[in-house]
Amino acid sequence: MIDFDRFNSIFELTAFFSTEDRCKRAIRDSRWEKNDVVCPYCGGHHCVERTDGRYRCQHCRRNFSVTVGTIFENTKIPLRKWFIAMYLISSHKKGVSSHQLSRDLGITQKTAWFILHKVRTLYKQYDTPVLEGEVEADEMYLGGREINKHDSKRTKHASGRSLKTKTPIFGMAERDGSVRAMKVENTQSKTLMPIIKQFVAEGSSVFTDESNIYTYLPENGYSHGVVQHNIRQYSRGGVTTNTIEGFWGYFKRIVFGTYHFVSKEYLQRYIDEAVYRYNTRKADETARFTYMFRMAIGKCSYEDVKMGA
Ligand SMILES: [Zn+2]
Repeated sequence: MIDFDRFNSIFELTAFFSTEDRCKRAIRDSRWEKNDVVCPYCGGHHCVERTDGRYRCQHCRRNFSVTVGTIFENTKIPLRKWFIAMYLISSHKKGVSSHQLSRDLGITQKTAWFILHKVRTLYKQYDTPVLEGEVEADEMYLGGREINKHDSKRTKHASGRSLKTKTPIFGMAERDGSVRAMKVENTQSKTLMPIIKQFVAEGSSVFTDESNIYTYLPENGYSHGVVQHNIRQYSRGGVTTNTIEGFWGYFKRIVFGTYHFVSKEYLQRYIDEAVYRYNTRKADETARFTYMFRMAIGKCSYEDVKMGA
């Protein structure tokens, strides 16, 4: 395994990953210990390195490169550029736009966009540990270039039309912990309760606003704290939804501050990115690059990332 502690700056990173060969060796040494290269097709351990740098499995006789099964598979972009891109993406806390990345790396904006989206696929929230303890749940609506939760809540009760122009996002936040959030079809109880049951441990205390969406929490095994926004009682003892609302603010800054626009088609990926960034917000640059590198080569799941560490 490579000692990633040395990468405290882009200078050190580029000095270490100075050639394509060094990048490939880094992937190989991180995927397979002690040169025990494992065939990605049959799982065989008897693989020999060919003169062209690829490997040949002695079992199934297939040839493969070190990047098979990673996000770099079949890429024509130099690995050095991938690694620098990953460093920039992971060290800029609010993300990097495709225009910025294109300028920084001397690649086209289209290529930069491709890298950003490929990296975003690493942030998927399935297989994540469940939230527990004190958890805040809330919905937010994304529409046009503006997100305004409280306004949309009013229109939601006034008419059924708002969902035609706005996309609801549902979020759950552990106090002083991590967040899960996703695009949802609607904000009815029957849609949100199964999500809460999937992501929040039974027995947890769930804090929400006074919306009738959440009246079924107690019968599903949660204790329920209600924040009464309509009488401006944002903080009644520990009954607040400040954590999840803080996350919505964070999400907005990434989406509108860095990317300016997100399409509905890729909205979930941007949510995944904001959630991941929020959850690793206390990790330093080296740790964030290490997580990304290990996720890119399939050696790290979301569960291995130390949330908030
Ligand atoms: Zn094989």
